[in-house]
Amino acid sequence: MAKTILVVEDEPTLRETLAESLEADGYRAVQAADGRAALASFRAEKPDLVLLDLMLPELSGLEVTRQIRAESTIPIVMLTARDSEVDKVVGLELGADDYVTKPFSFRELSARIRAVLRRGESTGDPLPPRVPLGLVQVDLAGHRVLRNGAEIPIKPKVFELLAFLLRHQGQVMSRDQLLEQVWGYDYAGETRTVDVHVHWLRAAVEPDPAIPTLIQTVRGVGYVLRRPA
Ligand code: CA
Repeated sequence: MAKTILVVEDEPTLRETLAESLEADGYRAVQAADGRAALASFRAEKPDLVLLDLMLPELSGLEVTRQIRAESTIPIVMLTARDSEVDKVVGLELGADDYVTKPFSFRELSARIRAVLRRGESTGDPLPPRVPLGLVQVDLAGHRVLRNGAEIPIKPKVFELLAFLLRHQGQVMSRDQLLEQVWGYDYAGETRTVDVHVHWLRAAVEPDPAIPTLIQTVRGVGYVLRRPA
């Protein structure tokens, strides 16, 4: 069945062009022209992904992100203006999955959407919004990690890595796979980046980061997350 994408954009020409291009790509597109309509459509249509302009009438894109994240882990891709660096950072902190900066090519946007949808594909049962992992709780909807009810600091990319490994728990992931799936198709980094982020992730979630039991190294291959039964 075609995946549904909710296109939230107040500029009618852009919104309709996006919807048409997405439909040509095989998606079902639903449109909303302001923040309030976006939340209503999100609840009524249960889309697979939200494409969200940040500068919106009624409710801002950031407020829409906040409200969606209180209810759901649905992927959100933000459309931001070139000069709204702060909004972009706040949006990612609120739990958006990715962003494209206007003006963008549809080809670029389409690749981002595919990557974000693929990243969210679960291999097993869908995860609940909060997942216990050793001594911590992973709040997937809120993009937070809690220990004894208190939020522990975690960088957005480290959280994305954690969420990806959780959704693929028990599957060994190579560094290249992690780079492609978590950092995105255009990330020209090196596999060392993955190791550094795994180091930070272990420091945040492992009972003893020196002897990792949750995020295990598979020598010569990569990493695997194993959740204690
Ligand atoms: Ca706008």
